[in-house]
Amino acid sequence: MKTRKIPYGYMMRGGRYIINDEEGEIVKDIFTSFTGGKTVTEISNELYSKKLPYFDVSKTKAREKVYMILGHDYYCTQDKYPALISTDLFTAAKKLLDASTKHVKRGIDSVISNCFYCELCGRPLIYSRLYTDRRWHCTTKDCPNHTSDISSAVFADALYTIIRNVVADPSLLDTQTVISRYTPDMVVKRKENDILMRCHIKPLDYDRIRKGIFELASEKYDLCSYDRTNARTSEIKRILSATGPDELPGINDIRKILRKVTADHLANIKAEFINGKVIEFRKEQ
Ligand SMILES: [Zn+2]
Repeated sequence: MKTRKIPYGYMMRGGRYIINDEEGEIVKDIFTSFTGGKTVTEISNELYSKKLPYFDVSKTKAREKVYMILGHDYYCTQDKYPALISTDLFTAAKKLLDASTKHVKRGIDSVISNCFYCELCGRPLIYSRLYTDRRWHCTTKDCPNHTSDISSAVFADALYTIIRNVVADPSLLDTQTVISRYTPDMVVKRKENDILMRCHIKPLDYDRIRKGIFELASEKYDLCSYDRTNARTSEIKRILSATGPDELPGINDIRKILRKVTADHLANIKAEFINGKVIEFRKEQ
């Protein structure tokens, strides 16, 4: 099969890109059907079953192509290719694609699978390939969570509930933290005593005491730690503030604000945010 250099919907005439009428109509149809409520799979299956060139290789390939078409903004800009659809239509399609498709198709659990752990033993959770959807369980053989099968749907429901709650009320993310901390160690304490002792020995060795004090100051400084928690809380709130009250943040933003997600054998799911705040979702019993 030869690879196509010109984007679907266009052709070359006299060194310029112009609209390919037949394909252009299909591009328009794809955008209007998708924003009109059809799913990508429904659209691509129709195109495949009509045996339309470009979509006739396989159902999977047809679906990939529809995804690609929906994602290309050159269909609405006038830059290199003449526009086929309006910017509004493209934006509407993109919004739908971002909000639903990615979440459903990839599953939030697969996107953040590297921070998904067992609440009981702390080991990573993995999913079984025996089912068509993902069912998560613990890797430790004698852990009660080993025989769990927490489905993608249960997982997504819990996580989205938690995230919706923090979008609605960001104060849930607040933590009580001390911004900076100083914890002296044994070496510092010994040096401190040493200086105090020297202050009682007559005649006073000023140079030695002064040198000691400077050294001590530098060592004390190294023992100060600055807590990043508040900065991280602001970062999460900043990311979430871009989300409307009835919307969910994008999948990549969700990944940015989460540190860890755990589940126990009763499928109670906890989300730990990057500022250390843990918010739990309990199943209604
Ligand atoms: Zn476990």
